[in-house]
Amino acid sequence: MARYTGAVCRLCRREGQKLFLKGERCYTGKCGVIKRAYAPGQHGRGRKKVSEYGLQLRAKQSTKRFYGILENQFRKYYELAEKIEGKTGEVLLALIESRLDNVVYRLGFANSRAQARQLVLHGHFSVNDIRVNIPSYLTKSSDVILFREKSRSNAGLKAIVEANASRPIPKWLEVNRDNFQAKVLSFPEREDIDFEVEETLIVELYSK
Ligand code: SF4
Repeated sequence: MARYTGAVCRLCRREGQKLFLKGERCYTGKCGVIKRAYAPGQHGRGRKKVSEYGLQLRAKQSTKRFYGILENQFRKYYELAEKIEGKTGEVLLALIESRLDNVVYRLGFANSRAQARQLVLHGHFSVNDIRVNIPSYLTKSSDVILFREKSRSNAGLKAIVEANASRPIPKWLEVNRDNFQAKVLSFPEREDIDFEVEETLIVELYSK
């Protein structure tokens, strides 16, 4: 399946919640969810009775869209989560949350996850002193993430880091903005993930 290239605010309106896909704009009154608080399309304002399957599907879709992950990869995370000890839904979210592109976004080194993905792809980061340009790289406890030397003098990147300096950092991460350096302290727990979804619905969907 190809990556979605349409208007991203439509995705948030479809899911009925902010997915923070556009960076700064998401925090302003211009946000599509605030301006048009109904689903997109001709029947977006109609009242709908949502089936159990519909709820499960929406839970999965909104999670995929929040993190910018395609179906095949999402299912692989689910299969991996099933093999790991713990509640499958929570482990699934934690695995996705550990992706390098998400970590870069959470650290305030990018305005959005899409931008974080681009920055990683362009080789601006190293993990434990090794250049990593794979957005899906799964970080683990004790990993040290660094803006590479060459990238630190880039005015555009500096401006992004400064603009996001006040973004709260989840407790499983630690950041030193002056050194453009961060550390993963632990595997994220469910309470560390500020995404509103009933992950058990995703498990129910995939368990069918
Ligand atoms: Fe979603 Fe951001 Fe658009 Fe609001 S501005 S609808 S949060 S992408």
